[in-house]
Amino acid sequence: MQIMRFQLPYHKLNHIFISHLHGDHYLGLTGLLFSMHLQQRANDLHLYSQRGLDEILLLQLKYSQSVLHFKIIFHLIEPDQRKLIFEDSTVTVETIPLIHKVSCTGFLFREKAKPRRIDKGRLQEGMLLQHIALLKTGVDIMSPSGNLLYKNTDFTLPPKHSYSYAYCSDTAYSEKIIDQIRGVDLLYHEATFLEDEKDKALKTMHSTAAQAAAIAKAARVKQLLIGHFSARYHELEPALSEAQSIFPNTVLAIEGKILELEIRAVDADDAVRLANDTRFGLGSNVWTSDLDRGQEIAVRLDAGHTAVNGMTASDPRLPFGGVKDSGYGRELSSHGIHEFVNVHTVVIEAPTGPSGNRQTTIE
Ligand SMILES: [Zn+2]
Ligand SMILES: [Zn+2]
Repeated sequence: MQIMRFQLPYHKLNHIFISHLHGDHYLGLTGLLFSMHLQQRANDLHLYSQRGLDEILLLQLKYSQSVLHFKIIFHLIEPDQRKLIFEDSTVTVETIPLIHKVSCTGFLFREKAKPRRIDKGRLQEGMLLQHIALLKTGVDIMSPSGNLLYKNTDFTLPPKHSYSYAYCSDTAYSEKIIDQIRGVDLLYHEATFLEDEKDKALKTMHSTAAQAAAIAKAARVKQLLIGHFSARYHELEPALSEAQSIFPNTVLAIEGKILELEIRAVDADDAVRLANDTRFGLGSNVWTSDLDRGQEIAVRLDAGHTAVNGMTASDPRLPFGGVKDSGYGRELSSHGIHEFVNVHTVVIEAPTGPSGNRQTTIE
């Protein structure tokens, strides 16, 4: 239901990972499968789950006398084992053994290392396509006689960051997962209870917001997303502040909310490229302890306004306005005044003689 509500392209789903067989984690699956069926899905669908989900689905299909248009390929997850369960050219998925009332696994998604990027501005005329393709793999190009033709770093930029995401729900507090999820870009960790209900968390094999944050801190993850809150809590702010007091970079998992992953630049050139890789250009900021370097970077940013060690703010003495899709023209300062005056050119032709011409420009 939520997938439809938020208009996610569910026909693109080819792999579904189910952590365990408590109803709140798989009961929506049958509805999704039938929606895919009604949408004439033909592609295979891969389901990764603990033992039992295949039986449950077969029973539902049997008693509804339904035959799906597409094939479901069922992959059994071995409980209590950290295992690679999926891999293609761009991503790997590993199971993370968790501690819960029934056998349960989290999932660790990792993008594989990306190729170096060709710096198009530095390519030379007459370079062979096969050499450019090889440069992407990170090697230097040698001539048949063994001389260096193209040094890789002269023609390529560092690869883009490879992201990692760990999903850990449902689970009691477990330090065993720390090693496996160390340094991930984003950790989703359940936070069913607040710390004052720690005993209840232990009994039901769930975690508190503070425990989720302690795991995030110990594993030095970049960002923590907490969710799976008990229905008893009508306000989620207490869970957020409890977690943030231990791990500040925590956000709440609210359904339908889009979370932006932090993008990490590998160096200043890459940061400028990332900053300019947008269709907008109103304001930008550079934060640095080296003011000369800050100024050098600031002028390379495509924006109407750049502040070094400050936030974007307009000042009547300075022109303000954007570039690209952030608009055109300027307001404030003498540049702003020019936007509101017309230039009226008057050319007066004298009837005779070159000395008689007069030209006047009035603003
Ligand atoms: Zn559960
Ligand atoms: Zn649950």
